[in-house]
Amino acid sequence: MAEVESFTLDHTQVKAPYVRLIEAQNGPHGGRITNYDLRLTQPNEVAIETSGIHTLEHLFASLVRDELDGIIDISPFGCRTGFHIISWEPYTPTELAETLTRVLRKIATTVTWEDVPATTMEECGNYKDHSLHSAREWAKIVLAQGLSDDPFERHVVEA
Ligand SMILES: [Zn+2]
Repeated sequence: MAEVESFTLDHTQVKAPYVRLIEAQNGPHGGRITNYDLRLTQPNEVAIETSGIHTLEHLFASLVRDELDGIIDISPFGCRTGFHIISWEPYTPTELAETLTRVLRKIATTVTWEDVPATTMEECGNYKDHSLHSAREWAKIVLAQGLSDDPFERHVVEA
């Protein structure tokens, strides 16, 4: 079996919410990508509802790209406690935590249903399973705790 870094992380030792650098990889045909763990809730204690994490996914797709260049993908973990962020640019966890704090603040305060991209049957694979209410409430919960740039010690960034 291939070794996957995320599966070697001791999930009982982390203190969410946080941004963690998983790894950087050089491509066999050139280029270098960086993979991050954006953990929004405490593993094995709290998971985000499917509808809420789905709407967060759609919002992150546009709002994070508005702020940062080189974002390849932002995809939810199957455990529904956070997201992978994959980037061409080697951002520090601090830079990403600051940006995500600003994005979560928008979701918590000003984003409306009209701002959620791709919510029609043509644009989404499960268009009925969205909740901006859930996304907004989770954004508030994460902001109340603050995003740490260290997964093991609480070190909340200012943004
Ligand atoms: Zn979708």
